[in-house]
Order: sequence, then C-alpha cells, then structure tokens
Amino acid sequence: MENWGIVGHEWAVHLLRQALEEGELSHAYLFTGPPGVGKGTLAKALASALLCQGDPRPCGKCRSCHLVASGNHPDLFWVQPESEAGRLKVEQVRELQRHLSLTPNMAHHRVAVLDRFDQATPSAANALLKTLEEPPDFVVLILLAPDTDSLLPTIVSRCQVVPLRPLPLPQIAAALQTRWGVEAETARLLAHLSGGRLGWAVRAATEPDLLRRRQQRIDEMVALLRAPLTDRFRYAAELARDPAATQEALDIWTGWWRDILLLTGGVEEDQTGESRLTHLDQQARLEQMAAQFTPAQAVARIQAIRLAMDRLRRNANPQLTLEVLLGFDL
Ligand SMILES: [Zn+2]
Repeated sequence: MENWGIVGHEWAVHLLRQALEEGELSHAYLFTGPPGVGKGTLAKALASALLCQGDPRPCGKCRSCHLVASGNHPDLFWVQPESEAGRLKVEQVRELQRHLSLTPNMAHHRVAVLDRFDQATPSAANALLKTLEEPPDFVVLILLAPDTDSLLPTIVSRCQVVPLRPLPLPQIAAALQTRWGVEAETARLLAHLSGGRLGWAVRAATEPDLLRRRQQRIDEMVALLRAPLTDRFRYAAELARDPAATQEALDIWTGWWRDILLLTGGVEEDQTGESRLTHLDQQARLEQMAAQFTPAQAVARIQAIRLAMDRLRRNANPQLTLEVLLGFDL
C-alpha cells in the first residue's frame, strides 16, 4: 500500500516505516495536530503495520489487517474520553494497563492508542507515566493530542513526537474527488473550509449537518454584533454550557475574521490567483462586512478570540470569558 494508504503526511509514514523495518520503533509515540488532521488514521495505520501477518506490512489483506480495520483486533486497545466533552479517566488507564501486562494474543505486539490524551485527568496522566517509564517489551503506545503544550512535560519527554500539519488544500480537494467521489466545486469549497484537515473535510462531505451547524454559528455571531448586550450575555451563557461547542464556535469565528482581514488588506488571493479565503462560498457577504472594518480592527477581533481560547485552555470561567468576548471585544 503506497504511503500506508494515507493521504499526505508522507514524511511521518516514511519515518515510522523506516523505524519498523529497522526494528527501532519507539515504545511511545505522540501524534499531535488539530482535530481531523489525520492523527487517528495514522495511528490505525501504524497499528496495522505492527500487527500485520503479511508482507509488506501493512498488507491490508490478512486477518490482522481486517481485524484492525473493523476495530476488533485483540491486541489493539483504543482508549478515549467516554463523551465529546468528557475526560479520560484513571480507571480507563488502569484497565488498559491490565491488558498491556498480558502477552499478545495474535501478534508480536500489543498496541494502545490513547485518543485525545489532552483530556486525561491529572491522575490518569500520572498513572500512564508508569507504563511510559517501564513499558513491557511488546507494547507500543500511541498518544494523540492537539499539541504538546496541553500535556505534562514528563509525558511528552517520554514519547517520540510526530507533529502532523494541515495538508495543502489542492491535495485535500483531489483526495475528496478521487477517493470519496465528491464533485469538483464542492471538493474545492470543503478543502478551503477544512483548513487542511482531511478528516474534517470527509466528515463534512458525508454529514451535511456539519456545514449547516457551521453556517449557523457564523450567522449567530454576525447577528450578535448588532444585538443588545443582554442578548449577547444570554448567548454567552448558553454556549458556555457546552465546552466542545464553544471550542468549535471559536474556531469557526477565527476563520471568519481571518477572511475579513484578508479582504480588508486586499490579499485574498495568492500569487497564483487561488483564493486564500476559507469561506469561498460567501465572498459577497464577507466583502460587505470587510468594507466596515479596517485591517487593525479585524486583527483585534482575531486576537480577542485567541485570547478567549487561551483563557479557556487555562480553565478560566467559560461564561465569564465568553461574556467578555461577545459583550465587549467583538
Ligand atoms: Zn496484513
């Protein structure tokens, strides 16, 4: 399978493949990158390669490869928070450790993927440290997180970090067309909206609700700009109850203001004439808004949203943070 069947991230596949072939694989990897960039896909491919009974590995055809693909391989353990907004708990890590202490069932390895490990509770992270310090010989751990800053330094230092970056937009558009049968114009729009995250683009292509929700968040934010303070505070209080939705809304709003900034600066196209805008399908509406702001005002709004994201990461009060942002800074 060329590039392990993965779109993009060629250097990461090359690095892992080489380590595998030379028998120099680390006991612990940390794949970082924004949600939907391909961390889970790469983790699954590495697990396939480790557990495969065919040649070259992963062959995609043997029983092991099929079991990994269907999520049923007895030597692969996938641990993640139980809900979208939930934490990864110490009990989950302890249960995993019991599995990892037993010798492999079918293969020569036992592989554990710890998805969204930035959401691990402090006691869960500390519990995992033990395994990271003295892993059984046959164990390979793969941690997934948006970045290294969100994890304990003691965790990061024991892993080989593989940072996954967003893919070039034309690569996303091409993959959507050839692999998922998306029509050319839609593929281009989804590539731009995805910001280089193929997983997100594929989800958007298959779940129309995702685009509808996205549009709704933009419409709400634009409407709030003219709304009385009481309405903005009410919206802030409501949104603050859902941390995942808050994160998603702040991401979307950042993209919207970035588009406005590009238009106020007159730099919405790159040297080749390709649009730099995220919201390709809403250029007229963006231009209308851009006419009302200076570049500096657009920058100030992007910075205000980033500051809010930063505060939330450091466990600031969500309602208060959103009230400040929506009430005064946007
Ligand atoms: Zn195989």
